[in-house]
Amino acid sequence: MHFNHYGGSGTFLAADLLNCADFTPAVLRDLLTSHEMASRNLTTAQSAALATWVEGARPLFGEPDVTRQVTLVNALLTAVTTSVRVSMHDGNAPHLHYITGTDDPVERISAAIAGGLAVAVCGAGGGRLGRCSRLDCPIVYVDTSRNGRRRFCSTACANRVNVAAHRARSLPRP
Ligand SMILES: [Zn+2]
Ligand SMILES: [Zn+2]
Repeated sequence: MHFNHYGGSGTFLAADLLNCADFTPAVLRDLLTSHEMASRNLTTAQSAALATWVEGARPLFGEPDVTRQVTLVNALLTAVTTSVRVSMHDGNAPHLHYITGTDDPVERISAAIAGGLAVAVCGAGGGRLGRCSRLDCPIVYVDTSRNGRRRFCSTACANRVNVAAHRARSLPRP
């Protein structure tokens, strides 16, 4: 995972979880595995707890006010992390580990998410945490584009908005 200034897997996991419609343990196991989380086997109750917790990160995405983003991300950090360490385990490059008060898997995943989002806000910039600009689309994303001006979750959403804007322009003026 070489997205260090985007906060590594925690940030991308946050976006994927927020876009996930199915919080069953099997679906989460695949998602957590693809983001290289050590905790990946959750019970049904833990899966539901993670679904609830990650909603607290949703307001960060698409929030234009960096001050508000900082307040939000600090609240997430305070809720789940007790300290930070740099780790080089398993031959990895130095990266941050967010320490939790317990071994509870939901808490550990939440800490990785909160820590990742904090690094993204500081390193990449809060504007990189985006939400689709099509009004009815709830999809969030991490904008890794070169210029950081991504506005939509997909070309499908971009096309729908552009077609609507084109139609509005072509209407005969009263
Ligand atoms: Zn690690
Ligand atoms: Zn969209």
